[in-house]
Amino acid sequence: MDEKETKINQDEPELITKVGSLQELLERASGVRAIVDHELEDAGLAESIPFPFLALVGQQQVKLSLLLSLLNPNLSGVLLIGPRGTGKSTAVRSLVDLLPDVKRSLCYYGCLEEDLETGGIDAVCPDCAKKYGEGDPLSRLEKIRLVELPLNATLEDVVGGLDPRAKANSRLQLKRGILSRADRNLLYVDEVNLLNDQIVDAILDAAAQGQYTVRRGPMSATYRSNFTLIGSMNPEEGHLRPQIMDRFGLRVVVEGLESKQDRLEAYQRTRAYRESSRAFVAQYASATQLFKEEIQASRETMKDIELPEEVAQTGLELIENLEVDSLRAEITLFEAARAHAAADARDQVTLEDIRAVAPMALRLRRSSFIDQYIADQSSETELLEKAINELIPGGDTKKD
Ligand SMILES: [Zn+2]
Repeated sequence: MDEKETKINQDEPELITKVGSLQELLERASGVRAIVDHELEDAGLAESIPFPFLALVGQQQVKLSLLLSLLNPNLSGVLLIGPRGTGKSTAVRSLVDLLPDVKRSLCYYGCLEEDLETGGIDAVCPDCAKKYGEGDPLSRLEKIRLVELPLNATLEDVVGGLDPRAKANSRLQLKRGILSRADRNLLYVDEVNLLNDQIVDAILDAAAQGQYTVRRGPMSATYRSNFTLIGSMNPEEGHLRPQIMDRFGLRVVVEGLESKQDRLEAYQRTRAYRESSRAFVAQYASATQLFKEEIQASRETMKDIELPEEVAQTGLELIENLEVDSLRAEITLFEAARAHAAADARDQVTLEDIRAVAPMALRLRRSSFIDQYIADQSSETELLEKAINELIPGGDTKKD
């Protein structure tokens, strides 16, 4: 093997052994400089090994929004808006190594233990009622998956349809679609603004109901489809229907990195990853594992996070001052603020949580015209900041 070509940084990455909160880890990890060692090479696996989330340079809003949506499934997902080459899909795919476990039902009807807690024995199917009586589990823990909807997917791929293999045997059988595989998972749609209307409608219906029904001839099947929707789009390539825009809880405008130092660091990390992805990912493995455990633990505390009345009142006032009509505005604002408090290991939402999440929860809710997005962006950012500062004094003007 050749001599080392370059060695950019001689230091070991800072060891992360103990963290106070997810946010702290996020901030510290972003500052960890990667060892760029071109001696280590492995064989073209860059495609299948996702870039480590903790190795993403800058983009605090992107990372925070994705993190919050992992912590709180009630957030209805994230939309990343920005030009090509700003790393939107890299960021989303990097979540794979951080995904927490969820309970998955073992039965066709999707019964869970928590249904029993809330609705009693009638809330589950007779089989599960029997299982419960015998002390058998109704679910098992499984890692959340990132299900990606390809841009060329057909409606049949998305909702399911007749299974062509079964048809060849002159039997009729329904095949599951992407939406049913997305149940309790993340559904990622890149270039969501380029999807055809039928597919958008299918996604909206499933998202609204948490389930959907497919009918083909004499056959019909209902599938559970409760997913966190993550979308990315380049606004220069077409607008997004307001109905689907409204569906996304958080919206983040992704810009290129501003500082030269960040750009250089991002370039070096990307290069190191391309040349030896396995070795590069290994440098972040222990921090990633720790981060994943923190996410799982914080996620489990979500139900205990309280929103004090006076904080809620300020949030509502902010929405009123911004003249946002959508009812989803306060749901998203408060759920995001609760997730933000959980990420900071607190059990009460504060005004600082509202301040931190308000721009991503309230952006692009006032106007349904995404076409105007580029022109409006800077003025909307200013307007959001002004409205937030009026109600919640004491914020610094630091930009991410
Ligand atoms: Zn059941």
